[in-house]
Amino acid sequence: MNLLDFSSYFPDEASCVEHFKTQREKLGLICKKCNGTAHYWKKDKIAFQCKKCGYRTALRSSNKLEMVIKQHIAITTSEIKEVHTFLPWVHSAIGNAKRILDGIHHSNGENYLQNYLNEYCYKYNRRYFGEKLFDRLLLACIENS
Ligand SMILES: [Zn+2]
Repeated sequence: MNLLDFSSYFPDEASCVEHFKTQREKLGLICKKCNGTAHYWKKDKIAFQCKKCGYRTALRSSNKLEMVIKQHIAITTSEIKEVHTFLPWVHSAIGNAKRILDGIHHSNGENYLQNYLNEYCYKYNRRYFGEKLFDRLLLACIENS
């Protein structure tokens, strides 16, 4: 979905809320307080309310995009003669990351290097999503509530 499609599909805030709500309902909603599965939709609060205990779950409360930063272990590959034949996809991915760091982020100080690598990993892992990128992002937001 490109920006023009997005704009025509979601012309206003209400259409975005309705789409997000529908997607969330399809996946099901479980109350964080009592594990109830039946909810009312509170349009004025833009939230679901548990029919059993009254606990409200804001529609946007599931929008947490939690970042997990993993520690990487550096391994010197200088002793491997033909590094491109040893884990070729790893070699290719690292080569692409190096080109992006050199080509786009010319002066990558230590302060931003991890952010650039995180960005690269994010894009690399989603390179085949294409038109479904928006829907995948929406599902990820809903599932990580
Ligand atoms: Zn409840």
